[in-house]
Amino acid sequence: MSIKKIKLLITITMISASIFSCIKNETTDKISISASVYPLYEFAKAVGGEKVEVSMILPPGTDIHSYEPKPMDLVRINSSDIFIYISEYLEPWAKEIVDSTINSHISIIKASEGITLTESEHNHEHSHKEEGEDADNDDHSDLSKDPHIWLDFEICQTIVDKLLNELIKIDPLNSEYYLNSAGLYKQKLEELDKKYIAVINRCQSKTIITGGHFAFGRMAKRYGLNHISPYRGFTTDAEPSPQVIASMIDMIKRDNIEYIFFEELLRPKVAEAISAETGVKLELLHGAHNISKKEFRDQTSFISIMEENLEKLKKGLKYQ
Ligand SMILES: [Zn+2]
Repeated sequence: MSIKKIKLLITITMISASIFSCIKNETTDKISISASVYPLYEFAKAVGGEKVEVSMILPPGTDIHSYEPKPMDLVRINSSDIFIYISEYLEPWAKEIVDSTINSHISIIKASEGITLTESEHNHEHSHKEEGEDADNDDHSDLSKDPHIWLDFEICQTIVDKLLNELIKIDPLNSEYYLNSAGLYKQKLEELDKKYIAVINRCQSKTIITGGHFAFGRMAKRYGLNHISPYRGFTTDAEPSPQVIASMIDMIKRDNIEYIFFEELLRPKVAEAISAETGVKLELLHGAHNISKKEFRDQTSFISIMEENLEKLKKGLKYQ
């Protein structure tokens, strides 16, 4: 969506947003939080508990990397007390909204603020144009940093703190409540972090091989793993590299690798093709960008997704 189009959409929805805001204030005294994506939605619910109402902007089952906001999203964001998003490298539309429109009373939390986002070798390769590549087709230069910070559970704890600080600022009378719930959730994240360190230390292989996009770089960095993906850049819309796919096939055959991972919510075309070629088994490694409608109905937790991932990693990385 172009900037112009977003601005127009925002202008149209501002009026309805203010009406919506009045209605909300009359019906509830809870603090309303709009979270762009699932992990932030989970963290906000965990810290705010019964004192907040959290809505997730990204509809369950959709891909964040290709999402374009709908008019109703802008209404929801503008009728919130807090809007939290990850980074312009994940939700460029969120930055547009924050830069151009948002009602001045809304507290904005950029979850990646103060966190150095990594660039991968993929991007360095990408900056050297390949033969025949269209120079104008380099749209990913703006999306060249890794926004998947929720896959490092130490970073998750700093995001929880950002939410905690904002809630205390807005609602100081309930400081103790927020401190307590944030403390409990950070404890869960810390335990998760420790479990990952302990399990991965005992894995024979240290390489996450996935047919999906390059989402697990942050997890790899934190837990001493390598991450191989046929996709350059950090989004799901890039074309996979045939050279990387060929080298992955060679590696799977040479090293007797038993599992290749695929990502949530998207058809695992590349992983299936590699599996057909090598006989390697397929396993979902859930990046938690978003959850399915069923997972949303079942209130699947971020922690449980990550615990399941750890069981998959045990198999895929040959835990001993
Ligand atoms: Zn991603």
